[in-house]
Amino acid sequence: MYIIFLGPPGSGKGTHAQRVCDAMGIPRLSTGDMLREQIKQATPLGLEAKADIDAGRLVPDSLVIRMLRERLAQPDCANGCIFDGFPRTEAQAEELDTIVGIDVVVNLDISDEAIAERMKGRRVCPACNASYHTERLGDKTDCAACGTELILRKDDAPETVLARLAVYHAQTQPLIAYYTKKGLLRSVSTDGEVEAVAARVREALR
Ligand code: AMP
Repeated sequence: MYIIFLGPPGSGKGTHAQRVCDAMGIPRLSTGDMLREQIKQATPLGLEAKADIDAGRLVPDSLVIRMLRERLAQPDCANGCIFDGFPRTEAQAEELDTIVGIDVVVNLDISDEAIAERMKGRRVCPACNASYHTERLGDKTDCAACGTELILRKDDAPETVLARLAVYHAQTQPLIAYYTKKGLLRSVSTDGEVEAVAARVREALR
């Protein structure tokens, strides 16, 4: 199965994509995680992408597509994978259609107000990329999965979140129509607790 998780920043793509990956035994391909790893390792690709990411802009299609193609060629993707944060433009979606056949697109539905609220409290693990919310962390400051000190992502600053939302509406939201036309889109409401959303995601994938 090749599955896309679509939705604005902070809609829970990473969280829900990871749960489905664990259940299905297929890898999660997060272009955001890949780009952050490239930045951490100071590769030429990472250096090229950094300014765009920090400003909340999209990284050029050509760069992201090259990186994704390389990842998709790995043997663990042969039987399927979940795309998290890719495609984000119509050009990327068209390119992806030439590489694999997409089975289903899960669209996580959330209002801009709810996103702003969620992003304020988001903390992430710089080592394993797990994501948390301050409301549920209490006084804990390290990652439950690997013990690393959690951080606030630089591009989760409120003004950068606004820029990322504008980018989402202008460049990524049109993909809802793109995949609806292909009959692949299943929209899931993100209202309520994470377990309730996870149950709706499972239902959408049945
Ligand atoms: P994410 O972790 O998915 O929120 O991605 C963080 C940032 O990485 C985005 O705001 C973009 O700057 C960049 N990025 C991630 N995926 C893509 C993509 N498919 N196309 C362009 N830029 C991307």
